[in-house]
Amino acid sequence: MSLARFGYGSCNQLMEIQQESKIIIGESYQIDIIGLTHDGEGVGRIGKMVVFVPQAISGDLVIAKVISVKKTYARALINQMIKSSSDRIEPSCSLVKQCGGCQLAHLQYDKQLYWKQQHVSEALKRIGKIKANVLPIIGMENPTAYRNKAQIPVAFQNQELVMGFYQKRSHNIVDLEYCQIQHPLISKAVQVMKRILVELGIAPYDEQNHTGVLRHVVIRVSFSEKALMILMVTRTRKIPQLNELISRLRHEIPELESIMQNVNPAVTNVIYGSETRLLWGKPYLIDEIGKLKFVISACSFFQVNPIQTKILYDVVKKAVFLTGKETVWDLYCGIGTIGLYLAENAGQLIGVEIIPEAVEDARLNAKCNGIEHAVFYLGKAEVIAPKLVRQGLRPDVIIVDPPRKGCELSLLQTISQVKPAQIVYVSCNPATLARDLEILNTMGYAIDMVQPVDVFPQTYHIETIALLQRAIS
Ligand code: SAH
Repeated sequence: MSLARFGYGSCNQLMEIQQESKIIIGESYQIDIIGLTHDGEGVGRIGKMVVFVPQAISGDLVIAKVISVKKTYARALINQMIKSSSDRIEPSCSLVKQCGGCQLAHLQYDKQLYWKQQHVSEALKRIGKIKANVLPIIGMENPTAYRNKAQIPVAFQNQELVMGFYQKRSHNIVDLEYCQIQHPLISKAVQVMKRILVELGIAPYDEQNHTGVLRHVVIRVSFSEKALMILMVTRTRKIPQLNELISRLRHEIPELESIMQNVNPAVTNVIYGSETRLLWGKPYLIDEIGKLKFVISACSFFQVNPIQTKILYDVVKKAVFLTGKETVWDLYCGIGTIGLYLAENAGQLIGVEIIPEAVEDARLNAKCNGIEHAVFYLGKAEVIAPKLVRQGLRPDVIIVDPPRKGCELSLLQTISQVKPAQIVYVSCNPATLARDLEILNTMGYAIDMVQPVDVFPQTYHIETIALLQRAIS
């Protein structure tokens, strides 16, 4: 059986399975794990019913307690490991089981890579009906300490102030001491901050009663400058003991260059509110990718793994045919990184992005790097692109790098109308990549190359680059 298969199992098949099985919530069952879902959970069966088991991998034989039974599948948690898979390792982080952020940490790294590779091929084949040669995934030499950003909820739990990550499917926070995938400066800053907050008596937000102050702390690090930004997301604009807090953070974290505040007074699970202000230092961090420097504001998107980002952008740069005259559109451009990375070989660069701060950063980044032939527009790619077409603009190359939900169909239609010679699709979701590639394929684009890059080791997330060439005019 294929590894990823059941993540998308056909409904008819699963319904049949369900009818033949009676599974009781709270009971434990022996389960042979035979595959992994698209989000990295083990897949096995109780009778004929499909069961998802977090933290389990192919080759494990487990006793697991059923926690929910749905129409077509059940979920169960490992009680006891009867036989471990030969691919299993002991994760270097003791919190892996509770935290759930590193879904694949117990799988050998080369097997993680193999699974990701298979997953991309399978998604293309099954969802996109595309037979493409998927190049071997590019992994990390050292797949730890790679993340440059952590969004950390703060709360009182059992009378203690905790800062960490939410357990999967819950609002229970796993208190963070050290995180194997975060830059060590981030783990250090969390510890310091936790202590200072307790000492100064600054109350965390209480989501039951909508009281307290501090909701989230977002910590960013610049790998190239070893500098930190702390963004405090608060319910109230006023932070008690603010001056003392700032002075102690500065004193105890010498790498700190920026302290920001975002005010979010709403009763909501959305992290950020609309007001962001500088409390101390600079309102941005600067990091490098290759020879370019990038200004990153508190609310802008920046790739979380700067080491693999350079590799990712180098793959794009090598794949795209540019002679210095071509017009490149970088849609979903964030702070302009991919386009600016290619700009030295392009005649003109147009970037489109929906977050206003990111567009400002992109403009600044072009300026800082001496790139004069770049313009950036604020708005939705699917709205701005047709406007550019109506103005008579014609790109030679279009890069799209959408969020997980992929591109709007209307954007793909605009792209097919404007007929660029090449399209580069950078994707963080193989399923929507496959869907969109199939559409572009029917619009006359041949898939030339598919290259997965492991930007998120230890997790199920996969980044993939696809290069498409116009096959018919
Ligand atoms: N290419 C950038 C950013 C990729 S992340 C990089 O490599 O860093 C995706 C970006 O798309 C985010 O910055 C997000 O704000 C933006 N975005 C989301 N929906 C959008 C839309 N409909 N139109 C334009 N940008 C969008």
